[in-house]
Amino acid sequence: MIITIPKKYQKYITYIFILIAFIILFVILYYSTDHNLFEHFKQSCILNDDDIFQIDSGNPGPNILFIGGVHGNEKSGAIYLREYIKNVTITTGKLTVIHTANKCGFKNNSRLVPSVNTYRNRDINRNFPKTLEDNTRDPNSKKILEYVNDADFILDFHEGYDFHKINKNSVGSTLTSSGGCKLSEDIAKHIIKILNQNINPINKEDIPVEDREWTHISSNPKSPDYISGFEIKGTLDYYCLIKNKNYILVEITGQNNKQEMDVRLDQIDIIINSFLNYLSTVSFNGKLLKDTINLPCIDSHK
Ligand SMILES: [Zn+2]
Repeated sequence: MIITIPKKYQKYITYIFILIAFIILFVILYYSTDHNLFEHFKQSCILNDDDIFQIDSGNPGPNILFIGGVHGNEKSGAIYLREYIKNVTITTGKLTVIHTANKCGFKNNSRLVPSVNTYRNRDINRNFPKTLEDNTRDPNSKKILEYVNDADFILDFHEGYDFHKINKNSVGSTLTSSGGCKLSEDIAKHIIKILNQNINPINKEDIPVEDREWTHISSNPKSPDYISGFEIKGTLDYYCLIKNKNYILVEITGQNNKQEMDVRLDQIDIIINSFLNYLSTVSFNGKLLKDTINLPCIDSHK
C-alpha cells in the first residue's frame, strides 16, 4: 500500500527529516564525548604539569605553593599569579605556582569546571579527600593534590562576595588558617595586621575603612577564631586540617566586582610580600623559616 501525502503537507515532511537528522547527529555527538570527538576540548579543561610553574633555588628551604583560580569566577588570584611568575626569583627552597587551577572556568567566568565531559559542573574545591583514606573526585583536584602533598606551605587565593565585617554570611576579606598549625595561624595574623594598616581609603561604594577590615578565621575547633560549620569536607582547607598541613585560605572581597580589580591585586601583593617577609625574618630552632626544610606544623591550641 502506498501512502500518498496531500501536497499541502509535503513541505512539512522535509522539515521533519531535517529535524530527525539533527536529533541523530546530536545523539552521536553526545554519546561520543567520552571517546574522541570532544577529546581536545575535554583535555583543555584538565590541569597538567605544563600548566604549573615551579622553580628550585638549589638551596635548602621550604617548598611554597601558591594556588589561584580554583573557582573560575574568582579571578584576582589567577590574574596576579600569571604576572607574578614572569619575574619571580627565590634564593632558598622551591616555589610552585598553580596560577589558574580551573582553566575553563576562568575563560567562562564560572565557579565550576564547564565542559561537555563527565567532569562537567564540578566544583574542584569540593572534590578533595574527605578523610585520610579517601581519594580526589576529578582530574583537576587530583593534579592539585599532587603538588599540595609536596608543599610545606600553601596559600590558596579565592574571592568572597562581601565584607565579612558587615556580612557574616560572606568570607570576603578573611584569612582562614588551617586546622592546628600554629605557624599558619601566626602568619595569617601577621598578614592581617599589615593588610589592615594599608586599607585603601577610597571605596567605590563608600563603605567605611573599619567595615572593610580583614578578619582571621580558624577551622580548628580549639581556636578562639573558630567559626562552627566553616570546615567543609572536600575543600582543600579541610584536607589540610586533617593532614596537618600549613595552609591559608585567602578570601579577597571581589566576586561580582565588589571591589575593583586594582584594589584586589594590591591586596594580593601585600599578602604575598608580607608572607615572604615573615619567612625571611622569623626563626624556628635557630634557623630562619626560609632556610628550614619541612616547615613545622605545631598544634597551636593544645
Ligand atoms: Zn572560591
